[in-house]
Amino acid sequence: MLHTIKPEEHGPLGEPMAQAVQTCVHCGFCLAACPTYREFGQEMDSPRGRIVLMKQVLEGELPLAAAQPHIDRCLGCLACEPACPSGVPYRDLISPFRAVVQDRTERSTGEKLRRWLAAQTIPHPGRFRLALAGAKLGKALRPLVPAVLEPMLDLAPDTVPPAVALPRVTPAEGERRARVALLAGCAQQVLDPDINLATIAVLARNGVEVVVPEAQGCCGGLAWHTGDLGAARDFARRNLDAFPAGVDAILTNAAGCGSAMHEYHLILRGTPDEAGSTGSLQARAEVFRKRVMDVSVFLNRLGLREAPQGAGAQKVAYHDACHLANAQGVREEPRKLLRAIPGVTLCELADAHLCCGSAGSYNLDQPDTAASLGAQKARAVIATGATVVASGNIGCLTQLGVHLKKLGSPVRVRHTMQVLRDAYRG
Ligand code: SF4
Ligand code: SF4
Repeated sequence: MLHTIKPEEHGPLGEPMAQAVQTCVHCGFCLAACPTYREFGQEMDSPRGRIVLMKQVLEGELPLAAAQPHIDRCLGCLACEPACPSGVPYRDLISPFRAVVQDRTERSTGEKLRRWLAAQTIPHPGRFRLALAGAKLGKALRPLVPAVLEPMLDLAPDTVPPAVALPRVTPAEGERRARVALLAGCAQQVLDPDINLATIAVLARNGVEVVVPEAQGCCGGLAWHTGDLGAARDFARRNLDAFPAGVDAILTNAAGCGSAMHEYHLILRGTPDEAGSTGSLQARAEVFRKRVMDVSVFLNRLGLREAPQGAGAQKVAYHDACHLANAQGVREEPRKLLRAIPGVTLCELADAHLCCGSAGSYNLDQPDTAASLGAQKARAVIATGATVVASGNIGCLTQLGVHLKKLGSPVRVRHTMQVLRDAYRG
């Protein structure tokens, strides 16, 4: 697409954004894949429409306020990327655009408060745990809670599992085949700490030593996807320093975290390191991101040392987390692991490419659209007749849990690693 964007006017992220706009040929193949185009049925809520809107804002031809509602409605699910025959890197446009316009985006006081609360709590497990305790009180006093904070109450679970301290090092069982470092995830540690325990157990069982670096922090994904570039850079720098070099891979078990870590080179683009060099930090990020992989990919490459014994016949539905399938291209690996369990029949969901509506903090910022997508996904799960739905992202698991419960469904929601760990236990 022809444009007159001047990349240098938009800082280090100007060039990738201009490149992404230029790659789009306006063909419209992406429209059918876009959940918000399906929800709203208008061009401006499609990938192609948003690309044009962002182009015009970057060119100075359109006021930001005219584009903002449609940019806010974008889930960042990246379903448009695999659908695009021209290979438009939409991820190089949407998050950088949000970051570049952040300071001049106008929001209501209530919305600012909600976004600030999410940014100050979710990436910090201690604070998030406290916030969820506060939400319990908020539910009891719901009529007094401002409407803008209600989505937070709706999504807060009634009970939170006790905190779990992960071992810094878990030795491999039997002969060691590999050594990895694990990102523990921030929201995941609070909402379902058993996911990390299951991941470590499965890895150790397969001869993998697991290190959980103490100095690690949030992956920065929430900040990056909501336009808070400063916070995203701080988290990325911290993790570049925290993860050791002497491991075979840096593993994630939350799709959103893995996807954000794969974008550290973009997040840190043009930022100076301690010595004032703008090149070396980005170079470190390039090396770092190539070492990051989802646990399902790592286990597939390594190969399961022994097949799990399983627990009899069960139908398991698999939900593709957008940031695993679309952002990282990981579709087959989790399915192969689940199929390796004797007795498991794997079920595919209708419209599997559609986002469940969780999308980081989307279900707080756009609760109606998120709820519509969540309900559709829950109905698709129920339609398979499965007793368990597995996925690889805490946001999706939470969203599925909420909407299955609303529909009165008994389907259990489990991380792929939990299904595998339970199968090893028999
Ligand atoms: S499919 Fe790709 S090239 Fe075609 S309109 Fe969508 S983003 Fe642009
Ligand atoms: S990221 Fe998702 S919601 Fe946003 S334009 Fe692409 S397909 Fe649509």
